Order: sequence, then structure tokens, then C-alpha cells
Amino acid sequence: MRDLIILGSGPAGLTAGLYSARAHLKPLIVDGHEPGGQLTLTTTVENFPGFPEGLMGPDLIRSMRQQAERFGAEYRQGAATAADLSRRPFRITIDGATEECRSLIIATGASAKMLGLESERKLVGHGVSTCATCDGFFFQDQEVMVVGGGDSALEEALFLTKFAKRVTVIHRRDRLRASKIMQDKAFGNPKIAFLWDSVPEEILDVAQQKVTAVRVRNVKTGAVVDHRVDGVFVAIGHTPNTAVFRGLIEMDAVGYITTHDGTKTSVPGVFAAGDVQDHVYRQAITAAGSGCMAAIDAERFLEHEG
Ligand code: NAP
Repeated sequence: MRDLIILGSGPAGLTAGLYSARAHLKPLIVDGHEPGGQLTLTTTVENFPGFPEGLMGPDLIRSMRQQAERFGAEYRQGAATAADLSRRPFRITIDGATEECRSLIIATGASAKMLGLESERKLVGHGVSTCATCDGFFFQDQEVMVVGGGDSALEEALFLTKFAKRVTVIHRRDRLRASKIMQDKAFGNPKIAFLWDSVPEEILDVAQQKVTAVRVRNVKTGAVVDHRVDGVFVAIGHTPNTAVFRGLIEMDAVGYITTHDGTKTSVPGVFAAGDVQDHVYRQAITAAGSGCMAAIDAERFLEHEG
């Protein structure tokens, strides 16, 4: 029986691991489907305090892992496939093996949503990306398309103007969901163009193993036109990785875990940290901060209700 299991190994899970290891809780950190989380898909991170020159996302994660390990955190590859939170100790199934724990921190993050096109799936990493920060550099003086009408799409589009010569934002409606300030920035940028009421129907060209164009359908007129581009950035939101906990714990309509009084969830002894409970800030530093809070909350819970 363990005092604490932490699900997820991004900045939230690793910071929870560091704090709880230093509190002698000997946490087990379960890596999850994307070990290291979204930072491992990033190149330079320039907004994590303490690194004036910036550093690489994977290096930051590696350091966090080592730091937690130094104080006794243990790692396990794999992901939680089932959970019983109806009574304590909680029972967590990790790829077939069941572990018991007195407290649990869920830090499983959120994954980028995809359009669901077969061609999109086949061209991921070959011109289709969900991360402008990671891949924008590869599109120097080229033409790219960004899918979506929210803040993420405009943030990606604005970032991509540093590299690409033209960025086309394609949105399924005729009005953006993004905040006014982001809209003003995007409308004011001469490199950014908009395709309204339109959706990608196909990404070409799977046979060539690279992006050459997007087949765009106007949802109002039905017209289909091939739009020549070299890259496609899908920025239509994220899905919280909470499927295992559906029905076991309180979530919002989208599936983000509801927290109160810090990182407490609807189940006493279960805490949530990072993007799995935050669709607003979604930063490495805010995830790390909430991981710290979750570890302190778990420690206090164990002290009082052990
Ligand atoms: P979002 O606000 O949910 O926007 C997703 C966008 O993608 C929407 O415009 C949506 O269209 C479109 N979309 C969804 N599914 C689609 C599909 N299958 N095909 C085509 N289009 C699709 O997600 P987000 O932009 O990732 O933002 C999430 C949260 O983070 C928001 O609260 C946002 O304000 C915040 N955020 C803030 C910043 C910032 O302030 N700098 C940056 C990033 C994110 P509809 O509009 O038609 O639904």
C-alpha cells in the first residue's frame, strides 16, 4: 500500500512528486501515455522563471524528473487503465497491475484535439502539427494554414508569422471565438489571412508524405477548393485525459476535473493538478504550481485522515 500515487509526469506530476518525496511520502509517479507531457513536444522554453537564456522543454522535464527522484520519487512506465475511488485505499490499475494508495494526485494533462481526417493522421510530423512553438521554425518563408477560431489558433498564427511568409487561419464559422485583444492583433498582422465558414476536407498529399495543399470546403456554399500550403497547424482545443475517471469524480461538461479549495476534487483524498483541471492558463509554471499545491494538500490530508 502506498501513501501517494501520482498519475502523469508533466510539470504538474513531477512537481507534486518533488514536494511529496521531500515530505517522505515516497510517491509512485506513473508516466502516462505522453511521458513528460506537452513540454517534451516543445523546443525552447523562454517563460519558465529562473532560466534567463531559456532552455529546451525536454531538458526542463529531465531536470524535474531527476530532482524528484533524488528525494525518493519512484517512476513507473504505463498509464492508469481503471480506477476504484469508491473507498479507501483507492485501487488503480496500471496496465493490468493493481496498486493501492491512501491518496491520489491526478495530473494526466490534456491532449491536442485533431480533426479526425485519415490524411491528417498520416501526415502528422510530415507537415501537420499541433504545436507552432515546436515546429514553426521548419516553415521559414513558406505558407501555412492554422485550423481553429479560438485563442490557441490565433496565438499559433501570430507566432508562425515570425517564420512563414503567409499564415491562413481557417475557421468553420464567420466569427472568431478568440478574445478581442487576440483578434485585434491577428487582424492587424499583414501576414495573416482568414478563410471563413470553411473546413479542411482533406490534407494533401499522403502519397508524397508531405503537405502540399488543403482541400477546403465552404460549409455555406459547399464549394471545394484546394488551397496550396506547406504546413497545417491544428489548433482546435484540447481534450483532458480523464476518460478513466468519468463517473467516478466530478468534472465539467468537457471533462476537466473540478477542483475546490486548492486542488481538492469531489472525492476526499483525490487531488488534481495541471492541465487536467485547468483549461485557462495551461502553462508549465502554473501546472508546476498546482502540482506543488496538490502535494501539500495530499500531505495534509494524510496527516489528518491518514
Ligand atoms: P477553444 O476556445 O475551445 O477554441 C477551439 C476552436 O476550434 C473554436 O473556434 C472551434 O470552433 C474550433 N473547432 C473545434 N473543433 C473543431 C473541428 N472539429 N473542426 C474545426 N474547428 C473546430 O480552444 P482554445 O483556442 O484551445 O482555447 C482554450 C482555452 O484556453 C480558452 O479559454 C482560451 O481563451 C484559452 N487560451 C488563451 C490564450 C491566451 O489568452 N493567450 C491562448 C490559448 C488559449 P467554434 O468557435 O465554431 O466552436
